Amino acid sequence: MRSRFCLSLIALSLAAGLGHALPALAESTPPAPPVSAAASPFASLTEAFLDAYWRQNPDYAVGVGYYRYADRLRAPDAQYRAEQLRFGADWLKRFAALDETKLDAGAKTDLALIRAQLEAGRWYLETFKSWQWDPSQYNVAEPIALLLNTEYAPLPERLATVSLRLAQVPAYYAAAQGNIQEPTREHTALAIQQSEGTLSVLSEDLLKQAETAGLTLEARQTLGKNLAAAQEAVRGYIAFLKTLDAKLAQGGARDFRIGKALYEPKFQRDIQAGMSAEQLYQRALEEKERLHAHMDTLADQLWSKYMKDQAKPADRLDKIGQLIKTLSADHVAAEQFFPEIKKQIPVLEAWVRDKKLMELDPSRPLVVRETPEYMRGIAGASISAPGPYDPKANTYYNVTPLDGYDASQAESYLREYNRWILQVLNIHEAVPGHYVQLLYSNKSPSRIKSLFGNGAMVEGWAVYSERMMLESGYGGDTPEMWLMYSKWNLRVVCNSILDYGVHVLGMSEADALKLLTREAFQSETEAKGKWRRVQLTSVQLTSYFTGYAEIYDFREQLKKQQGKDFDLKAFHERFLSFGSAPVSMIKGLMTAQP
Ligand code: ZN
Ligand code: ZN
Repeated sequence: MRSRFCLSLIALSLAAGLGHALPALAESTPPAPPVSAAASPFASLTEAFLDAYWRQNPDYAVGVGYYRYADRLRAPDAQYRAEQLRFGADWLKRFAALDETKLDAGAKTDLALIRAQLEAGRWYLETFKSWQWDPSQYNVAEPIALLLNTEYAPLPERLATVSLRLAQVPAYYAAAQGNIQEPTREHTALAIQQSEGTLSVLSEDLLKQAETAGLTLEARQTLGKNLAAAQEAVRGYIAFLKTLDAKLAQGGARDFRIGKALYEPKFQRDIQAGMSAEQLYQRALEEKERLHAHMDTLADQLWSKYMKDQAKPADRLDKIGQLIKTLSADHVAAEQFFPEIKKQIPVLEAWVRDKKLMELDPSRPLVVRETPEYMRGIAGASISAPGPYDPKANTYYNVTPLDGYDASQAESYLREYNRWILQVLNIHEAVPGHYVQLLYSNKSPSRIKSLFGNGAMVEGWAVYSERMMLESGYGGDTPEMWLMYSKWNLRVVCNSILDYGVHVLGMSEADALKLLTREAFQSETEAKGKWRRVQLTSVQLTSYFTGYAEIYDFREQLKKQQGKDFDLKAFHERFLSFGSAPVSMIKGLMTAQP
């Protein structure tokens, strides 16, 4: 889900925004590491480690709501990379010196996550090397936007911090340019697009804000000077990339497919599941077959109701496809897309409460908003959740409006997010999917499990919650809802097939689009969007299916063991209480308890 030293990739993926803290009102002093006198050696070492880690990764720190080092922008040069490697090696050594036999289960798993984080960081720098070939990794917008939009301190203080950051922007992009070697054309195009969005964050509005906030003339002049230099640096980077792209059009670009040699180790590091990527791929192929067979039955049940006396095709994919096509016409109008999503959130919350599925926190409402410009690019909907340093802050549901689409693109998109699937999307993103899970995660007693959380657990929970809600009767338990849900679930399964197929097996664009449109019944717009995403990310698309399968199997196993004593609400609340730890780790912790 997350590249360890790279914030921009977090914004790219539908990664549930663990890295996006948008706290609202907090104390104005930087938080001090809370080390109590009675803290265990492990707890003290962990707090010292975290403060050092944020100092070393100030952008990431701003993302999780830790502002002590917010005025620093590290230039991503060779010296910084060497420092990162030394940092990782040094802390691995310090943690290795602890007596592990004295740690309880919670601390042991925290330690495992810290190790995984540091080892992955090293692997990304030394082996994966996206810092060389992914120009979209370099973007200064997000931390600056967070500092401007988050009231963690009075505005004049935040503007002063931003001004200091801006002064370091030219050195940042100079280092970025120096790093780029044979990038992929796909990441180059994305970097151009997103850097243009960056200019809307580094706009003259900042100077108006400074005037309103009552900054001194001198401070305003400095801000103006730093802003102009930063804008110039971003424009320079865009120009550099455009020239480079014209050259790459003639040849010499890197293939966006990462290949098997990088794929397996990346899968192990990012997903942390109990199987190999190849095993997951095989499992997904089997699941696709199971879903097709189930949908075949549902299609037979629904055929005459919707298709009247139209001849039923012998081919099951044709039959299912025609039925889905007919049902998909039931969708909201383009201008109703955003309001409808907003309207559904309280309905879902009421259902979760009434059916006693899990406790919700009414003091922490979800804010539905249009996706900020600088975050647009891949996902149509995403969640920006506050980090564990400011767990009382707002959670945002970012919905990208359809303004950028022409009429036929919008129609295609709306058919995809039809009456049934739009509800499943809201379950996934909001209630009781990402929004609810991340609120629980931030209340977890383990800060490490919230900070270095596992993407497969986060996505797996959201996907699990879809099926769980339908099993509880949400949506009326109708064959229509189950058919559409199956189509949606097929998407998660095909995400895994697509990702492995493209990056490891060299699947072509034509074959990928065929898989998505014919076997997963996706629209042209959706399939093309997914094709774009698989070119820009790797492994992340498999996290949904892996985590979902692990959670569902675990629940079924407990149900069988506990029989009538099994309590769904208690299971959910306990499962969510460990933060965003890998599913296999949560299983261990839950079954180890008496
Ligand atoms: Zn329509
Ligand atoms: Zn998700």
